[in-house]
Amino acid sequence: MQQPGSTVSRSAGGLQPVKAYGFPTVFGRNLVAELNDFVHRPFLVVTMADLWPVFEPLLDPGHCRPYLVESIEEQDLLRDLAELPSCEAIVGLGGGQALDVAKYFAWKRRLPLFQVPTALSVNAVFGQRSGVRSEGRVRYLGWAVPESVFIDYDVLRAAPRHLNYSGIGDILCFHTGVLDWKYASETGKCEAKWPYDAALAAQSLEKVEAVLRRQEAIRDLTDEGIRVLVDGLQWGTTYHGAGWMPRHIEGIDHFVFYALERQTGKKFLHGQPVCLGVYVGSLMHACRAQEMLSAVAGIGLDIRPEAMGLTWAQVSEALLGLKSFVGEAGLWHSIAHDVEITPDLVDEIRDGIASAYGAWSKP
Ligand SMILES: [Zn+2]
Repeated sequence: MQQPGSTVSRSAGGLQPVKAYGFPTVFGRNLVAELNDFVHRPFLVVTMADLWPVFEPLLDPGHCRPYLVESIEEQDLLRDLAELPSCEAIVGLGGGQALDVAKYFAWKRRLPLFQVPTALSVNAVFGQRSGVRSEGRVRYLGWAVPESVFIDYDVLRAAPRHLNYSGIGDILCFHTGVLDWKYASETGKCEAKWPYDAALAAQSLEKVEAVLRRQEAIRDLTDEGIRVLVDGLQWGTTYHGAGWMPRHIEGIDHFVFYALERQTGKKFLHGQPVCLGVYVGSLMHACRAQEMLSAVAGIGLDIRPEAMGLTWAQVSEALLGLKSFVGEAGLWHSIAHDVEITPDLVDEIRDGIASAYGAWSKP
């Protein structure tokens, strides 16, 4: 596994820089109980109400107290922060929201941060900024680098499987991200500050290939499958490592998600709309769409609209309006900025998904 820090590696073209990525990350078992012995005391455990009863017996009440996340609205967090007793460190224990709030508190209080993801649904744990809401809109702000991220195989395997499968979204999106970057570059529409970098793109694509090669291990959440997911999600830190540039890690894949979120106001399991966007983008670029869809379905992530609590009419509306959405939202140039999604393409997407998953029946 790649160690954090900037290094160089020899490739066919000579010495190529490897962008700094990843935070110190430890893999193992029984890691939550170990926190008692080394985290600065007393420490605040930022977690969720449904998770706390599972982990409370493992943590010494003499050394820590819980903070149960109810809101990621910045005003609520600032109010709670003012009322919190003093502590010496922050532990994030949960999925995306708990980890983001832990980052936010660590940033505001300038405290050491230790992160323990309980599911790999999103790459939040491998980003310096915290995704909080301000007047209902997501803002990424702050700066928090964890002392370490603890990947506990048994904790992750105990989570509902689809939460971990969701993590492939933030890796497969490198495929469409790179396609959009190349497309924008070739059509002369790439932002001057983000010129195409083939070596960096190739590194992103290696992470995609790793997922495609190890679909069974990911589906079965073996130790190896978990390591493949973590390695791909760690690449999220290259948003910072490449100078706050998202080009090699996301494009139309996430734009589809943003469009659905804007239109419906719904909360999503991140990987579902993102993987739908990967499929849509791969079709538009005519590049490995079937392969992407088969991998997502084979691993077990359901991207049918119904599985996200949507109707096909809602998805269709978002896709037909994607071109105007990306233009208005001021997102970096992608194929969606130039190519209108037609009703025929929506039919093709619908047919493709139906043949991969079969007809929807209520679980
Ligand atoms: Zn994402």
